[in-house]
Amino acid sequence: MRIFLLVVLLAWSRPILADEVLRIGILSRHRPAELLVEALPQGAKLQVEIVALDGRVEKRQVKRLELRCGGDAPVMGLGRAGARFRLRPSRGKMLRLTLPGKFKRSYKGWLDLSENKGLCRVVLHSPLEAYVESVACAELGPAAPAEALRAQAILARTYALTNRGRHEAEGFELCDLTHCQMFTGEQACSSAQRSILASVRGQVLRYGDKLAQVAFFSTCAGHTASARDVWGPAADRPYLRGVKDGESQAHCAASDHWRWRFQLPATELCARLRGELPGLGAGPCRVTVAKEGHGGWVREMSIEAAGRVELSGARFHMLMGRWYGWGKFKSGRFQVEARGPNLVFLGQGMGHGVGLCQHGAMGMAKKGAEASEILKHYFPGTKIGRLP
Ligand SMILES: [Zn+2]
Ligand SMILES: [Zn+2]
Repeated sequence: MRIFLLVVLLAWSRPILADEVLRIGILSRHRPAELLVEALPQGAKLQVEIVALDGRVEKRQVKRLELRCGGDAPVMGLGRAGARFRLRPSRGKMLRLTLPGKFKRSYKGWLDLSENKGLCRVVLHSPLEAYVESVACAELGPAAPAEALRAQAILARTYALTNRGRHEAEGFELCDLTHCQMFTGEQACSSAQRSILASVRGQVLRYGDKLAQVAFFSTCAGHTASARDVWGPAADRPYLRGVKDGESQAHCAASDHWRWRFQLPATELCARLRGELPGLGAGPCRVTVAKEGHGGWVREMSIEAAGRVELSGARFHMLMGRWYGWGKFKSGRFQVEARGPNLVFLGQGMGHGVGLCQHGAMGMAKKGAEASEILKHYFPGTKIGRLP
């Protein structure tokens, strides 16, 4: 017992370091069955470790390696069947992954390849800093002003370190999609963007002596949401309460997602909702906003049809996004009207609304704000700290 406690305490007190390595599940969307791996620059060597089905380990050195997952063996490569392949470029080199007929991507770090349901599970062991830089560039795009990019990188680092448990059941820590953070590898950043990001290396957002629980999204349309309205009381933090995003003109006013409209026949939505929500009877249904949270973000929806069901605004947004596309039903900030046989959703902004508004951050940076001012605006009471 005492030993167990000691182990727990040691695990707790282990400092998070700037040279941390993260396990990222990559190519999540593409789920390949075949993959070509090389080292960059071309001609560099790749160390390959093949863990055979009986657990024996064989080591090889190659320039390129074609892998196939889920045939007769979990993973096949170099004429060998393996349960797992580990691929490591020599020091200072990178990996290049090619999905035949689709694309090439390059990454820093090393790879573990195994099989999952007939496809390749690709786990990248990425140095924290390489991951953070790529996420910041992928999230904000090539036109992002420098200070917004720096603020996004500080958040990306903080987010990664506080959300490492999210995909543990799948064998990695974070995925490479917006579910966690968008991560597309080394080509996301230009060399100019990399030098912009060098000045915030190792920086994180803290509240008191802890890392802050951060979040970000595309566009708030004038007011961000409070975490408790969107994710419930357990998500409440003093620095995650909605803020007005700008005075006479909102910081994110230039966003394409400022206003949106989505219309559909009421009967269609009712049928879908009936499949999802037990307790909703037959017949026509009435869809209304039951409770509006801070800044107009929907806290609770009410659906009535021979029985009444309430669901959170966040769950409703998630269902609608999944059914009709995140680019169509854009945010959790909307009103709904019944017009004849149709339901019309009149919405504002894009995303869940909690934390940093990315278009707002870019707007603030264009008006001269520094990364620290941007973060202070969206996360009041927090401070920028540095990893040891
Ligand atoms: Zn994820
Ligand atoms: Zn905004």
